[in-house]
Amino acid sequence: MIYNVASLLTGELGDSEHHEIENERIVLGDRSLNQISGPVRLMRTDATVLVSAEIEAVTQDSCSRCLEPASVNVSVAMDEEFSPINASLMGKTKNRPDEDEYSFDQALIIDEQNFLDLTEGLGQALLSAIPIAPLCMDDCLGICPICTVNRNTIHCSCVKSSVDPRWAGLAGLLEKGAESAD
Ligand SMILES: [Zn+2]
Ligand SMILES: [Zn+2]
Repeated sequence: MIYNVASLLTGELGDSEHHEIENERIVLGDRSLNQISGPVRLMRTDATVLVSAEIEAVTQDSCSRCLEPASVNVSVAMDEEFSPINASLMGKTKNRPDEDEYSFDQALIIDEQNFLDLTEGLGQALLSAIPIAPLCMDDCLGICPICTVNRNTIHCSCVKSSVDPRWAGLAGLLEKGAESAD
């Protein structure tokens, strides 16, 4: 996920390169993003390299219903501009009056050797795309709120008596009402 973009920087406005990420891995803190795959396009703009990527990955999380480990698919469409330290390659002065190099996001820098490293920017984009309530499977049955067993593995008998007994009488009245209204 590191590309040398020297030829893009010295090329023409609109020049582009295509790359393919295949089964890469990024670790950020205690989070591992695996099976990272997808197309990446690098395009030279006036003063930057625009990165457009459609990326899919898999990470491990806990199912929000049953709390068991879950493999979670993450996908992200990334559009970020990377700024070269060697702005002179693009015919730019090093710093415009209103910015110095400390104002750049360090994840979006093209370094002195003209390497564009997608790792951190892509990692952050994938992190923010992880679902808030991941599931181990689409139809996860979750934990029984009454006896707390994992209903994917144990079929408890609590489900049928899930109507609060205090409301059972009211439910009966409502049924009668519905019948007499016919
Ligand atoms: Zn689950
Ligand atoms: Zn139960």
